[in-house]
Amino acid sequence: MRPIGILGGTFDPIHYGHLRLAEEMLELAQLQHILFIPTGNPPHRDAPQVSAAHRSEMVKLAISDQPAFILDDREVKRSNKCYTVNTLRELRAEIGVSQPLCLLMGGDAFLQLHTWHEWEQILELAHIVVGYRPGYTLEERIHSATPALRAHYQHRLCAVDYLSKHAFGGIAELAIPKLEISATLIRTRVAEKRTIRYLLPATVAHYIYKHNLYTPC
Ligand code: ATP
Repeated sequence: MRPIGILGGTFDPIHYGHLRLAEEMLELAQLQHILFIPTGNPPHRDAPQVSAAHRSEMVKLAISDQPAFILDDREVKRSNKCYTVNTLRELRAEIGVSQPLCLLMGGDAFLQLHTWHEWEQILELAHIVVGYRPGYTLEERIHSATPALRAHYQHRLCAVDYLSKHAFGGIAELAIPKLEISATLIRTRVAEKRTIRYLLPATVAHYIYKHNLYTPC
């Protein structure tokens, strides 16, 4: 059964780094589709600069030309803290126990996984698929992770075909060129009135200017 992918993020704003990661993973992990889940009230980091409604709208614009990308705004609709593990429990209840589910993330996010709420439970609900820069494998960087995360990585590392044969529990790595783009870079450039063209879809850039986002008052 082809897995469903999940890409969570603040998407403050969404950019081509996120979209390329998703597009490459869609192809390499042969996913059915990817749910883009903007986080409402992220537990690990500072509050996003713009409202959940704006961040969701920008995701919707950015993915409108890729039918395999779907906006799932369940987290932004909640007023309480959103933990990924709870979102996965909710999704698992909807799709059943046998549908493979893959939580997608960059290598930097994976190395911080031990800081996530009930992080070990995540692997009882989904696979984790990690993108790493070609030439910089996760294996070389995993020694900087906590012993518990390292142990999961070593026991659960799997090939891509495992992802469609099992519903959850594997950790797969995919070599994906990382674009040097971050939402922080885009917010800074907008605030400094510098160009953001070609860092994100033009529709999202227009939305940012139209609604005066990321400009200091
Ligand atoms: P910020 O600059 O505000 O910290 P960000 O651009 O890193 O934001 P997030 O919403 O925090 O974006 O990231 C969501 C997911 O996308 C994470 O798993 C992260 O590793 C991944 N990601 C972000 N930027 C890139 C990129 N340029 N290439 C590949 N993956 C990325």
